[in-house]
Amino acid sequence: MAEIPTVAIPGGATVPALGLGTWMMGEDPAKAQIEIESLRHGLDLGMTLIDTAEMYGEGGAEKITGAAIEGRRDEVFLVSKVYPWNASRQGVVDACERSLERLKTDRLDLYLLHWRGEHPLAETVAGFEALRQSGKIGAWGVSNFDIDDMQELMAVPGGENCAANQVLFNLSRRGIEYDLLPWCQQRGIPVMAYSPIEQGRLAKSAELIRIAKAYQATPAQVALAFLLERDGVIAIPKSANPHRVEENAEAAELDLSDDDWLALDAAFPPPGRKTPLEMI
Ligand code: NDP
Repeated sequence: MAEIPTVAIPGGATVPALGLGTWMMGEDPAKAQIEIESLRHGLDLGMTLIDTAEMYGEGGAEKITGAAIEGRRDEVFLVSKVYPWNASRQGVVDACERSLERLKTDRLDLYLLHWRGEHPLAETVAGFEALRQSGKIGAWGVSNFDIDDMQELMAVPGGENCAANQVLFNLSRRGIEYDLLPWCQQRGIPVMAYSPIEQGRLAKSAELIRIAKAYQATPAQVALAFLLERDGVIAIPKSANPHRVEENAEAAELDLSDDDWLALDAAFPPPGRKTPLEMI
């Protein structure tokens, strides 16, 4: 079994740098069994962080997650997200209660604002802090926040308790390396890299296929190795296929040569200037 590196979450938890995404799960009852099986297989392989959201399948993905973690809640670092329009002071508390019900648990380990909306950050943070005080969540964070959003957040009472920022980050979307990633790293705020395989598209990259071949690896594994190489970054690939979940876990074994890192930089150049944060 691959040994997965870990990342420290502010507040004390240590989580694997490779977790499990759930977007597109819980939408088709015919696929529920394989989705649950895939998540459980991921847990068996040490990918014990599960990322979900009230948005995914309009609660369906949380129900799938709830079924997957039944009887093994303590093994899991459970992450969910609140819609921006539910992120008022009381709205986050109510949305969290609904998520907990679907997940059949009494607590989330990390609760994220899915993206910025109309509610003032101070209100959202006050709601998150109330949830933390009552033990319903272990920590809170944000998603799709660029550096200016993070700076604004830090100025809000309690904002410094932000425990993660989940953003689009993969080989073909390297913009955050210019400013947001070092900013978060300096402050010990983990970055959760979503769409780490660019929703499957990086698995078809000719350059990744070429590099992977020399290691008897797969292009998706090279894409994940790129993220695992970075401090304070947690990649959350989604797969509803147990074989691909296994393939993704094994990315932790991949040790690329200096020449191959240079080849990756040539094919997917790092940013030379500020680019606004992209979203999927
Ligand atoms: P990913 O980059 O994880 O790619 C998922 C797609 O790639 C699926 O179609 C999957 O198909 C396929 N795939 C998975 N593993 C492999 C593999 N080894 N080889 C080839 N194909 C593979 O995209 P996501 O957008 O799902 O991002 C991951 C997670 O990040 C989400 O599930 C969600 O939890 C989170 N997210 C958060 C967002 C936010 O705004 N905060 C936005 C987007 C995502 P299959 O299932 O058939 O294996």
